[in-house]
Amino acid sequence: MPAAQRLARQLHPDEVDVVLVSRSDRFVERPRLHQLATGQELQDIPLRRHLQGTGIGLEVGRVTHLDRALRCLTLTGPDGDRRLGYDTLVYALGSTTDTESVPGVACHAHHLDGPHSAERLSAALRDLTSGGGTVVVCGGGPTGVETAAEIAESFPALEVGLVTAGSPGGRLSNRGHTYVTDTLERHGVSITEDVRIVEVAGDRLVLADGPDIPFDVCVWAGGFTVPTLARDSGLEVDRTGRIRTDRYLRAVSDPHVWALGDAAAVPGPWGDDLAMGCRTGGFTAPAGADNVAAALTGERLREFRYRYFHECISLGRRRGLVQFLHADGSPTDVVLTGRLALRYKEATLRSVVVLLHRPGPHLRHRRLAVASGARQAVVSAERRRHRRDLEPVVAVRRLGEPRCGHRGGPGG
Ligand SMILES: Cc1cc2nc3c(=O)[nH]c(=O)nc-3n(C[C@H](O)[C@H](O)[C@H](O)COP(=O)(O)OP(=O)(O)OC[C@H]3O[C@@H](n4cnc5c(N)ncnc54)[C@H](O)[C@@H]3O)c2cc1C
Repeated sequence: MPAAQRLARQLHPDEVDVVLVSRSDRFVERPRLHQLATGQELQDIPLRRHLQGTGIGLEVGRVTHLDRALRCLTLTGPDGDRRLGYDTLVYALGSTTDTESVPGVACHAHHLDGPHSAERLSAALRDLTSGGGTVVVCGGGPTGVETAAEIAESFPALEVGLVTAGSPGGRLSNRGHTYVTDTLERHGVSITEDVRIVEVAGDRLVLADGPDIPFDVCVWAGGFTVPTLARDSGLEVDRTGRIRTDRYLRAVSDPHVWALGDAAAVPGPWGDDLAMGCRTGGFTAPAGADNVAAALTGERLREFRYRYFHECISLGRRRGLVQFLHADGSPTDVVLTGRLALRYKEATLRSVVVLLHRPGPHLRHRRLAVASGARQAVVSAERRRHRRDLEPVVAVRRLGEPRCGHRGGPGG
């Protein structure tokens, strides 16, 4: 969203159509899904209303195919498939919970991938509260820790367990780690650490070494994975399927594709690629959009620079932890705790929504870097193409470039 908005504010609307393609017609604030799962209301942000007056087109549908040779997306929606051509693609499809690596997760565990899955979990928790029951949260990273704390605080009658390899919050500083485990224990969360879950059966976790752990409701927070669309399209991806980018956020294997957020493997200054998260991905959006605009208008690209700063973890609605980080992401000894830390986290989450309303200062429309004689022809072809791309038959192509979605199949 912020990337689309920054692009629309920098590129001249007579020359470029910016189209946002999204599976959902709502903006989903993923870092608050554990709040939705415990019955809290979240702000509703309909994309169409939000984009009014920005000049950005909205296409609601799931991207099911990316044809890089034809520069064309296939979108699947309630009315069937349709195709949408592009000259420049900004790929920001994010991540989802990995439900495939451990058998049984997809069938027997809840997860927090969107409002629907969060509401399903919320209903399951409400059903349990009348008779009591056991909830196990699998995974001791920030998502698992936040979810376990939120459930335990909201449903004190339930037995809540956190089961994880390593220790919950194990990558934090000693002070941070101690605060997390103490707070979980205060909430009555029982912690089972240093175990490997090899299967989620219908009513129990099966461990590699140790007795099964029974549950009534299981929540899986064992890590994220990314859509296979990039890999399937032949883009160069890392081991996890994230698009490999250069330091300008452009895909190393396709100059027409730029990748942002969780779906991008962006080289960090310390050798490792940046970790997933809004605290990293949120910064790639303005930087990536600015570089796309610079590339199209013939200006200088800027290297994406990033240093880790903090990790904010909510521990229910009364406590939180802010772990400050060294530039390379390793924890410092400095932490904020308690209500102050929760307020700090709230402020960072709200700043993301503010970014949606104010995508950046000092932006002005700039013209494409095309020789002026040729520009008019390109512009009119562009505009006709966009109009027709939304119909089943797309025949207009940009001068000298391949066709997209011509009747009769790819290549036409
Ligand atoms: C419960 C929870 C708590 C979290 N807490 C934090 C936190 O405190 N701090 C932090 O830094 N991170 C946190 N995260 C992680 C954070 O939410 C993600 O890293 C962040 O949302 C990634 O942003 P993104 O824009 O790359 O992708 P996403 O937010 O995943 O957005 C991707 C968008 O693409 C759409 N999409 C995906 N596939 C398709 C398709 N095929 N076709 C069309 N549209 C598609 C999706 O619907 C979505 O709108 C949390 C995540 C969860 C689940």
